[in-house]
Amino acid sequence: MHEHEAKARICSLLKAHNFSIKDVRGLPTAFVASYGKGRPRIALLAEYDALEGLGHACGHHLISGMSTLAAIGLTSIVGPSAGTIAVVGCPAEETIGAKALLVKKGVFKSMDAAMMIHPADKTEVVKLSLSLERFSVVLKGISSHASANPWNGKNALSGMLSLFQAIDVNRITLPDGNRINGIIKRGGSAANIIPDRAEAEFFIRAKDLESHAVLVKRFFTMVRGTAHAFSLGYEMKRSGNVYYPLEPNMQLARIFEKQLKKLRVKVDRFFTDKELGSSDIGNVSHVVPAIHPTIAITGSSCPAHSEAFKRQANKPAAYRIMRTGAMLLALTAFELYKNKALLLNIKKEHYIKYS
Ligand SMILES: [Zn+2]
Repeated sequence: MHEHEAKARICSLLKAHNFSIKDVRGLPTAFVASYGKGRPRIALLAEYDALEGLGHACGHHLISGMSTLAAIGLTSIVGPSAGTIAVVGCPAEETIGAKALLVKKGVFKSMDAAMMIHPADKTEVVKLSLSLERFSVVLKGISSHASANPWNGKNALSGMLSLFQAIDVNRITLPDGNRINGIIKRGGSAANIIPDRAEAEFFIRAKDLESHAVLVKRFFTMVRGTAHAFSLGYEMKRSGNVYYPLEPNMQLARIFEKQLKKLRVKVDRFFTDKELGSSDIGNVSHVVPAIHPTIAITGSSCPAHSEAFKRQANKPAAYRIMRTGAMLLALTAFELYKNKALLLNIKKEHYIKYS
């Protein structure tokens, strides 16, 4: 939520190409830029947040580049009365999942489709994503001298270690695609004091919202059960928004695939449900037909959120691929502006799923 510089630069470029910019109340680094009028209204999503302490190691600077260039390119082939070209500035994908708030604020209500491309080490047209919910857990005990009178204490750290073990034991019987990952953020202040407070953070993920709800319930039981077993107090807090699993629109994905072929981009896979992360575009895909393909910016395997990926994402080759990505988005969106029947079918697919 600190992307003021990125927002200012992207918006001034869009303004120079006759886009009008609207702010989003309550989200100072989000924006909605639009050109033209009426329907169809196609949203190109721009992410531009970096990772704290690491920088642009998820390539979001390339995402905003692709969507912004695509929108500007489209203005020269879609007349101002043939529909609306929109760029939605989506901050904080890595932290609070601001797209969930943009959905709640109704930004996508009037859109006919939404799309973006994520840089990666593979080109994949349909890559599913998992739900995600973040929880902080505090266990509260009683401090005492660890040697002189430990029996007067209640050890919050021991409780926390047991909670992690309980999660690991439960993991054996978790359904496919369920994930619980955690870190201990605080486990005491000195070794000669029985810790009266332990803090941890957990990420909970699942393949669909139903199994997500079951997993969250199971997690709550583990926290409550552990606190009870050690006579500790506990606090559980959700931080950020729930990220929904991506529900890609398959017809829109096929149109995107056609553009990949047109531009002779090598496709690694059309569909994958392997090696999944989470993204708040999932929330968007539940309210409007959406796609979130990936495009390879590296020659070999190189996972995001690493120093190596950050280096790759800042090479001249990455910026060349960013231009290709912009063309892919523009060509895909152009199909929707020029073929109303096609857009109707895409919307039907979405409607059938969510009605
Ligand atoms: Zn990312």
